[in-house]
Amino acid sequence: MKTSLAIPVEKTKKSKLSETDFSNLVFGKTISDHMFVADYKNGEWSDLRIEPYAPMEIHPANAALHYGQSIFEGMKAYKDAAGEVLIFRGDANWRRFNESAERMCMPELPEEVFMEGLVQLLDLDRDWVPTAHGASLYVRPFMFAMDNYIGVKPSESYRFMIFTCPVGNYYSKPVSVKVETTFTRSIEGGTGAAKTAGNYAASLYPALQAQKAGYDQLLWTDGKSHSKIEESGTMNVMFKIKGNIITAPVNTGTILKGITRDSVIQLAKDWGTPLEERFLTVSELQEALEAGILEEAFGTGTAATIAHIERINVNGKDYILPQTSENAFSKRILAELDGIKYGEVADPHSWIIKF
Ligand SMILES: *Cc1c(COP(=O)(O)O)cnc(C)c1O
Repeated sequence: MKTSLAIPVEKTKKSKLSETDFSNLVFGKTISDHMFVADYKNGEWSDLRIEPYAPMEIHPANAALHYGQSIFEGMKAYKDAAGEVLIFRGDANWRRFNESAERMCMPELPEEVFMEGLVQLLDLDRDWVPTAHGASLYVRPFMFAMDNYIGVKPSESYRFMIFTCPVGNYYSKPVSVKVETTFTRSIEGGTGAAKTAGNYAASLYPALQAQKAGYDQLLWTDGKSHSKIEESGTMNVMFKIKGNIITAPVNTGTILKGITRDSVIQLAKDWGTPLEERFLTVSELQEALEAGILEEAFGTGTAATIAHIERINVNGKDYILPQTSENAFSKRILAELDGIKYGEVADPHSWIIKF
């Protein structure tokens, strides 16, 4: 990718690279040397810069701290055998970021600020992109209000930043989930489709209750009737019943439009695998489990790509799913997506940018 924005760079005087143990990475704990910063003032983005990752000063009256105008993205970069850095569907993250921004009354971020900030930061910190298979560089773009004013109104100033974390081989062991019918993640007219901080804050308490009861995650249902399956934790969710993949539609404004979800749908189309975008009801799910015709259930998201579900609690009853065989749809999807992300198989939809 050609870069055209001249972004000033202040390099770190003391790289943490040599003291980082790449064989022992805990997700989100190790942060690379540099960060990208841009400030929004007087109606425009300015002062783009790359500087050493460091704490920053925030006014106690910072509006984001009080009223939560804060959005983020999560994406990953990979390294191929030739040492080139690959970014998976970064343009889709940029588009979704602006959809989140619009819902939260935050300014639009131009594509070149997002993409060039991303590429130039990753190019500078390319030695932080792990080389081990399965490992990657987690990328966290985010934006938050910067006004020092505690009146309730949209902020007039904002900061956009990107920092990155090398993450190890994310082998996700199969998860157990519980259908949630008391708490609500999102409701029509709400903010469920935006990747905004408050959604996650609101999900922590119900998720903790589920963990105390012995489940890894919740299966969220719709906020009105709690009868339709929406998402799983912070992933979209798919079910395979009698050869047919079923996943919730994303046009209700209640579900996060996952890029992994979208990629799985595209691959299913390419392969001619039947896939329906419709709501699976809780009773349909329970009937399928009772009848033993639920063949696969899995979450889709950037962190794990595919998280297999091995146990589901519906209406207080636990069901164990069959073991996923090596040629299960979810296993083949995971292998194909990994192949594309590491530049090992063809990329027919031009999902990768490489530099
Ligand atoms: C980020 C996220 C997802 C998954 O999105 P990907 O683009 O696939 O990573 C799904 N649900 C929620 C609530 C999320 O925050």
